[in-house]
Amino acid sequence: MTPDQSSKTPRRTGLFRGPSGVLWFGAVLFGLLLLANAVSTALDSRERLEYSAFKSLLAQGRIAEARISPETISGVYLNEDGVRTSFTTVRVEDPNLAEQLDAQKVRYAGEVSQRWIGELIGWILPVLLIIGLWLFFFRRIGGAEGGIMSFARSRAKIYAEDDVKVSFADVAGVDEARDELREIVEFLKTPQKYTTLGGRIPKGVLLVGPPGTGKTLLARAVAGEAKVPFFSLSGSEFVEMFVGVGAARVRDLFKQADARAPCIVFIDELDALGKARQQSPMGGHEEREQTLNQLLAEMDGFDPKKGVIVMAATNRPEVLDPALLRPGRFDRRILVDRPDVKGREAILRIHVKSVKLADSVDLSVIAARTGGFAGADLANLVNEAALLAARRDKTAVDQSDFDEAIDRVVAGLEKRRALNPRIRRVIAVHELGHAIVATDLPGLDPVHKVSIVGRGFGALGYTMQLPTEDRYLRTRSELQHELAVLLGGRAAELLVFNEMTTGAQNDLMRATAIARAMVTEFGMSDAVGPVNHEGRQRQMFLDTDTGPERGVYAEETARLIDAEVKRLVTEAADTARQILEARRELLDRLTDLLLEKEVIEGEELRMLMGIPNVTQGDDTAPAALPPRESIPSDLH
Ligand code: ADP
Ligand code: ZN
Ligand code: MG
Repeated sequence: MTPDQSSKTPRRTGLFRGPSGVLWFGAVLFGLLLLANAVSTALDSRERLEYSAFKSLLAQGRIAEARISPETISGVYLNEDGVRTSFTTVRVEDPNLAEQLDAQKVRYAGEVSQRWIGELIGWILPVLLIIGLWLFFFRRIGGAEGGIMSFARSRAKIYAEDDVKVSFADVAGVDEARDELREIVEFLKTPQKYTTLGGRIPKGVLLVGPPGTGKTLLARAVAGEAKVPFFSLSGSEFVEMFVGVGAARVRDLFKQADARAPCIVFIDELDALGKARQQSPMGGHEEREQTLNQLLAEMDGFDPKKGVIVMAATNRPEVLDPALLRPGRFDRRILVDRPDVKGREAILRIHVKSVKLADSVDLSVIAARTGGFAGADLANLVNEAALLAARRDKTAVDQSDFDEAIDRVVAGLEKRRALNPRIRRVIAVHELGHAIVATDLPGLDPVHKVSIVGRGFGALGYTMQLPTEDRYLRTRSELQHELAVLLGGRAAELLVFNEMTTGAQNDLMRATAIARAMVTEFGMSDAVGPVNHEGRQRQMFLDTDTGPERGVYAEETARLIDAEVKRLVTEAADTARQILEARRELLDRLTDLLLEKEVIEGEELRMLMGIPNVTQGDDTAPAALPPRESIPSDLH
């Protein structure tokens, strides 16, 4: 189920974000020049004469020297006591001055204007401003944050954290991710044990998940558990003002890591660096691209047996350059999800260790009330509660402090619609609609779990199916069943509430894409016939979106195609409705269960539905073995 996208506010583009940096730069420079001018005037000890006074001195023959510039005349005259005195006067239009000076035999010389301040302001300042603006925009386009002066620290060395104090005991609620990372820890501890057997150790591990779920914490815990050095850098730090600096830092980082192996290199916010390369009209992405290319080259270059593991974190996996996800790079992806009730309780338990709790506090109640909170939100919650208790001079933090803190944190979080009980129920019914249809119909990937824990990538809940085998060919009935699963969410909503929501938008989009492909590409509609109307080769099954262009066919055919697509989708919706009507009582029972537990595992679902569990290949493998690929291919 996906939230309604229409209310999203447009994102700011960043290019013109706060030009105040340049304005400040200019203002400060201007101020300095004015100051210099004032100081030089104040320091000027020369006597200021009126021009008439100068002329009368000249007539009396008391001018000893004169330097004549376009604006001023300065020089030396003899005062009443015959002492040489410096003077300056503002020049007045006087064509006969030179003659009079000659007549008095004064030594005089022309001079270029002394008004350097004016020159600076009139000429150099604009140039400086232009340079400043150029640097500023160059930097913006490069996508990096930070001020003009940050290049000064760009060559700063990257240091390893040697003695990481974090361990897996400090992380809770993300058990699947933690279990997958244990393998990495084992490898880092004794790399030779693994490599002598010829096993392939992952080079790159990508932690994917919403903010605050503990990705950074997990990466540090891996280093702490394995007792290896931890190099940590944020993706945005790589992207520097001057082209080439980022790439140099990557090289430096890997050189150091190589020398200190086994160790972990952790790149936070990988998306800042690894955004898909694209042609920009201003050609400004060069820096990031160079850095990214350098990173790819380094990852390809180093010997996996040495024991350098590159970990990275992102909450926007969809923007990453596909090259980063290729085998030998970040090919292991680990989902770090928001915790469920039990996970939240465990996380709270970790964070309350450092506060004094009253006996009245029941962590399971707090966990139940904090649906949608990530680990960082829970840590924040405990802190808020402790602060509230302290403000009231209590000796221990009690339940009422937590209650108030929850209200505060919730108010501070963005609209967490999942917290609203009515909406939670709609989401639960919707997801169970998918799950029940998927379990009831034969030949589909078994449901791995159903969840109403918000997912962060725009999903309010999800039903996850995991394939038991690779599918090289899809039959028509399989695709029809898949359509029924996609429409099961809305069908359940209609059945239970007799009302529709916007939550099915993504389901409908995907169902329509499948149905259209069945009709126009796979010749699976009897009415249209075994004709491919697209005339294109697909890279992967339903992988790329089809774009606006369409194949060449008559208007009439277009109408027929639309009618057939609609028929397929409508039939699938009917199938879903029939299944759910037959299982109505179960749907209601499961809804209550899901609202309480937030997650239902596939096995439990099948047991409750009286459907035998599928054996996943090897029978001896423990049933709870986490899936290899934690990013589900089916997310809806
Ligand atoms: P992310 O990198 O995913 O944005 P962090 O690892 O920076 O999140 O988490 C921030 C803080 O929140 C951590 O330092 C920790 O105190 C707390 N936290 C987050 N997730 C967890 C968790 N799963 N278990 C315990 N504490 C957590
Ligand atoms: Zn759905
Ligand atoms: Mg982080």
